[in-house]
Amino acid sequence: MIEAEGLTKFYGPLAAIRDVTFQVDKGEVVGFLGPNGAGKSTTIRILTCFMPPSIGTARIDGLDCFERSLDVRRKVGYLPENVPLYTDLTVRRFLRFAAGAKGVEARRMENEVARVTGICGLDKVSNRIIGNLSKGYRQRVGLAHALLNNPPVLVLDEPTIGLDPTQIIEIRRLIQELREEHTVLLSSHILPEVAQICQRVMIINKGRIVATDSPANLTHQLQRLARIIVEVEGGDGSLAGALQAMEGVQAVSPQDEEGRRWLVESDRSRELRPEIAGLVVGRGMKLLELRLVDLSLEDIFLQLVTEESAQDSPEEGGQS
Ligand code: ADP
Ligand code: MG
Repeated sequence: MIEAEGLTKFYGPLAAIRDVTFQVDKGEVVGFLGPNGAGKSTTIRILTCFMPPSIGTARIDGLDCFERSLDVRRKVGYLPENVPLYTDLTVRRFLRFAAGAKGVEARRMENEVARVTGICGLDKVSNRIIGNLSKGYRQRVGLAHALLNNPPVLVLDEPTIGLDPTQIIEIRRLIQELREEHTVLLSSHILPEVAQICQRVMIINKGRIVATDSPANLTHQLQRLARIIVEVEGGDGSLAGALQAMEGVQAVSPQDEEGRRWLVESDRSRELRPEIAGLVVGRGMKLLELRLVDLSLEDIFLQLVTEESAQDSPEEGGQS
């Protein structure tokens, strides 16, 4: 339903994205995850026909975003990063105006505006001036705007940015409800958000896609290290060295000042907990805790993103 093929976009000499290729199938909800400046909005602006790529092609439902931009726009509901709303109109007036601009006929207008107002929970504020609404409500107005004329594809650029936690939960729930009938591409720099809402995640960093998978698989596959928390009583200062000397241990780091809690990072293929337990007890200490901690997707994301950054310096010029 959404296809990006070798998308590259230069802003002057700087490549904001490079060779970005992916597909989103009909009915999928896919998260586009990456730190600020990674190239999410650039990719999204190409997919929503706001600008052409320097190289590559983008298609929505088989239609080229550049050559068939009018048809593509009709199929895509777009929530831009900074929602450009007419702040001096009421919600209802704005949505009517926008529905007209999107080609909703006069006889369907009332119904259509009422429909999106209802979905987005805007009934109570439909006669209020947009400029006086909270950020959360404005974001809903933006979403209602994207839903007008019921487009099959929704592209949402950081839909929860700037919202408070309660508003975030509400917007997430809304998006979850929309997934039934729409193909959704949603960008975010916040990982738990994407992990919760999306069945698939694409991670972009410095303009390149660095991983694509389900949140669960990403967590699983990218876990190269096991992390074990060890807490002891009666330590004599030799514990860290002894842990470090164990085969398979890659790093030992203190978790407190008193030398009671340690984080042991080891090779995933080895189960070190029995050995650690033996070592602690054998040295006359009490073992208070011994626990394998899973890397969160957040940790993995950070790992991916920092590794990539360490590898290449900012890309300039036209080298490929
Ligand atoms: P994201 O949405 O992931 O935060 P963007 O796509 O907005 O990332 O930006 C990607 C890179 O392109 C950034 O380095 C940004 O500074 C640069 N960039 C974005 N828009 C422009 C522009 N209009 N002109 C020049 N550089 C831009
Ligand atoms: Mg952005």
